[in-house]
Amino acid sequence: MADQDAVQQCIVSPQEEKLEPPSDNSEGEVIQSHASSAVKFTYDSFGQGMENLTRKLVPGVEENVSHEDTRENVKASDVRGDDSLEARAAIRRLEFKRSRNYRRSLQFIDDTPDSQVDDDSGTFSPQTVGKLVSGSISRSGEGKQSFREESRDDDKEEGELAVPGGGKSRRRYRSRSLSQSSTDSYSTCASYTGSSSEEDEVSPREKNQKNSKGSSDFCVKNISQAAFGRREIEIAEQEMPGIVALRKRATDDKPLKGAKIVGCTHINAQTAVLIETLVELGASVRWSACNIFSTQNEVAAALAEADHSIFAWRGESEEDFWWCIDKCINTENWQPNMILDDGGDATHLMLKKYPAMFKMIKGICEESVTGVHRLYQLSKAGKLTVPAMNVNDSVTKTMFDNLYSCRESIIDSLKRATDVMFGGKQVVICGYGEVGKGCCQALKGLGCTVYVTEIDPVCALQACMDGFRVMKLSEVIRQVDILVTATGNKNVVTRDHMDKMKNGAIVCNMGHSNTEIDVNSLRTPDLTWEKVRSQVDHVLWPDGKRIILLAEGRLVNLSCSSVPSFVVSITSCTQALALIELFNAPAGRYKSDVYLLPKKMDEYVASLHLPTFDAHLTELSDEQAKYMGLNKAGPFKPNYYRY
Ligand code: NAD
Repeated sequence: MADQDAVQQCIVSPQEEKLEPPSDNSEGEVIQSHASSAVKFTYDSFGQGMENLTRKLVPGVEENVSHEDTRENVKASDVRGDDSLEARAAIRRLEFKRSRNYRRSLQFIDDTPDSQVDDDSGTFSPQTVGKLVSGSISRSGEGKQSFREESRDDDKEEGELAVPGGGKSRRRYRSRSLSQSSTDSYSTCASYTGSSSEEDEVSPREKNQKNSKGSSDFCVKNISQAAFGRREIEIAEQEMPGIVALRKRATDDKPLKGAKIVGCTHINAQTAVLIETLVELGASVRWSACNIFSTQNEVAAALAEADHSIFAWRGESEEDFWWCIDKCINTENWQPNMILDDGGDATHLMLKKYPAMFKMIKGICEESVTGVHRLYQLSKAGKLTVPAMNVNDSVTKTMFDNLYSCRESIIDSLKRATDVMFGGKQVVICGYGEVGKGCCQALKGLGCTVYVTEIDPVCALQACMDGFRVMKLSEVIRQVDILVTATGNKNVVTRDHMDKMKNGAIVCNMGHSNTEIDVNSLRTPDLTWEKVRSQVDHVLWPDGKRIILLAEGRLVNLSCSSVPSFVVSITSCTQALALIELFNAPAGRYKSDVYLLPKKMDEYVASLHLPTFDAHLTELSDEQAKYMGLNKAGPFKPNYYRY
């Protein structure tokens, strides 16, 4: 019933008055309205007399279409200027570092002392890539590591790249000889592989596998793992109420009937829920992984068993990676008309290799910062011939990724890595942005004394008003037990700071880049590193002092914890709605440009998740709506509103 109420809140009457955002906000971001001329619909109730299925789900959306140049949100260092495959591969790896599956790959990598992630570029050294794919990794070195004689391999060269459709194949696979002991305890996705190392050496491309229905239109590691993968998907569904609700609401109407979607995202239990939702809504899909290390093999098997064309396995070579995307785009009797991308690789390949096919695409939905940036580049260069939706910057997604997800995962990460008790501890959080606010709230709630460092007086004032002491790092560094960075900046914590920290202090980073803590300054002959467990190092000073460094300064929550399925539910809803909107939009509503998810849809995504909490929205009276200049059905805020 609450569910139905939430629908009614969203589906009322068409917007009669529209709030026009200013053409220029205080930060100089240009926000343009692409609202089409007023379209009059009658929305009696959900499920009746709709002209357009998107409007059925989210009426009034066409009046709130806007796009926004978010290039300023993308740091120059995030993206290389050129369009080469090397650059794209580097970007893809970098994007993965930010992703929810990064943790899993870090465990995979960090259990192998010879492997290296180049933390500035997010790339793997060639040796590492070679070892990862060849299975020649040996496990050693859990003891003390002195940097007196060893210098770390800081080679920033990228791994060998295979050009789509050609290049050298490296289809040998790591054996299962890697110890899983330290990774399993952290992993939310237990591996059910149970396969022999001999089998693992065989490339999925060389296997002849069929699902129980006799189809072989897929390529996964081992189809026999399907039952385990199905359980993973079922568990994820429990915590993804929004996307499951969307599936239920739109399943009869099949708003994606006729959509042929090429998907390129991480393939895990949560994205499987999205994939199956899209199919339930009428789409046919072909899906590959957007990262060579992130696929949950048993989930890929479950999807293949359910007759979805999945081409992905964990530990693909670069050549496999492009082969898999190619298999999704180019196959007999298949003309894709939508792309759901995470990083822009499927878009890129189709544009470069199949330009005629690309022209037939009705819309692109892109999730990642980097992919979005590239879409804007294409648009500027006049090469974007189809409309694209930037779901990365949608309000609900950002809110959940930065604030709510971090608020939970900071505690989880610290606990799992160090077994620390929080009550009474002194903590300093560097940066009081969305991530920092989440960390502060969580740690304060557990009885920590929390200090904040900030460069921005507005955020500093916010921190004061929220009850935190704003100090310089140098003023509190000697007394804190836990230090967390969340600035997006570099060298916020220096060797000088760490020299002054007390024995047993924990140091970790929640920001995007591992440069926030100057970890390299700890790799000097006078300090000794001791690996304690996966993602946990003790760094020992000559006088016996030790600090506990987590994930070598990389994002601690993605390394030591996991992203809640609920957060992915939000993201998945925005993606599904963006696809529905682009697929059903009448000609002319969207030009060949990059659009933000309309505010109405953000509100709808939120409304889909409200019934979980039995939340009851207040409805505007006619008088109130008139007074506020709002439509009763929303949108309730202008595009420039900051929540
Ligand atoms: P934000 O811009 O809202 O906040 C960063 C804050 O740090 C700003 O208020 C800024 O003034 C402050 N700051 C900058 N340099 C500083 C310095 N030297 N000392 C003290 N404060 C400083 O950004 P955000 O959304 O909070 O994200 C912060 C970082 O976390 C980014 O790198 C972002 O990519 C990353 N992020 C991580 C996760 C995760 O899961 N761990 C999720 C989302 C974002």
